[in-house]
Amino acid sequence: MGSRFNNIIDGHVHIFGHGLEGVKDMLAYEKKQGYTACNFLSCECMGDAAQNALGIYLKALAPENFAFGGLTYRYDCDFARELEELREIGFDGMKMVENKPTLRKELGVPSNDPRYDRFYEKLQEAQIPLVAHVADPEECWDRALIPDWAYDAGYFYGDGTYVAKETLYAEMEDVLCRFPGLKVILAHLFFMSADLERLTDLMERHPNVCLDIVSGTEMYWNFGKRSQEWREFFMRYQDRIIYGTDNMNLYDAEEIQNADITNDLQQSFLESSGTVFAWDKQTTGIALPQDVLQKIYRGNFLGMVGGAPRPLNTKTAIRYLRARLSNEKLAVTQEERKVIEDVLAFLTEEQE
Ligand SMILES: [Zn+2]
Repeated sequence: MGSRFNNIIDGHVHIFGHGLEGVKDMLAYEKKQGYTACNFLSCECMGDAAQNALGIYLKALAPENFAFGGLTYRYDCDFARELEELREIGFDGMKMVENKPTLRKELGVPSNDPRYDRFYEKLQEAQIPLVAHVADPEECWDRALIPDWAYDAGYFYGDGTYVAKETLYAEMEDVLCRFPGLKVILAHLFFMSADLERLTDLMERHPNVCLDIVSGTEMYWNFGKRSQEWREFFMRYQDRIIYGTDNMNLYDAEEIQNADITNDLQQSFLESSGTVFAWDKQTTGIALPQDVLQKIYRGNFLGMVGGAPRPLNTKTAIRYLRARLSNEKLAVTQEERKVIEDVLAFLTEEQE
């Protein structure tokens, strides 16, 4: 059906591969979906040292959009310093996906690792927002419940080589307790849609925590099981829930269709009453009032980032990107070098 609103900000998008064209392709999809602006989340920790460069390019190309930066793991880098640098460039916040189980296994750095202390401190002090993806849907640890596509994609964590979901939660809980002023958006509802009581308790104990409602579709099926109570949850925390999609540059027809369905499912769930169908499944809409929808679609995100995108500091961005190219410890790949050089060429041309 599509949303009734034409001013929605998509608080959670990605760009993978395809260099600068990927940025344009993602923007074209966002436009097709009717979003007025989007927030790109850099995933540098996924082993792509050109992700922050893509964020810089997005802000230079289409300054109405937002970008959250990511941290580097190829060498023992000072996260607090990296934050300062990215902030000076004009990044609007930070993104962490380090404790998605696959990345945790690879990087081995818990959310509450002391290496992050000064970084969190700085975020808290300057009230810089952080989007944190911690854990994954519960069925990923359960061979009987995990959907085939997720198993095939390598998202099965029940073989004893991955950290338990509860461990990931306990580590993040420790961060929230030690940095109570941290402006954190827990992505994908912190994967707690199966436990409304536990999530409510978390929201009560940590009043600065916000949630994004980016599908993992399991979330929307779980909402449907207790839709009246979830509606109350959304009403109660209407100032702390943020809309986003996980949209990205896609090229496969089936993947694009799935993204279309997901975007529609999320909006229909929020706006309509009665049964909402998606694929072979269904949920029940919670028909939120207009003013609440406007907060979730726009106002809450803008509140987190200070009302508008931060301007790109082109000079600082150029210095940062050049330093990346010559950083021997970072040792960018050929592919990353190409992307960073392309962004540099765009920025220097713009400056002339
Ligand atoms: Zn995401």
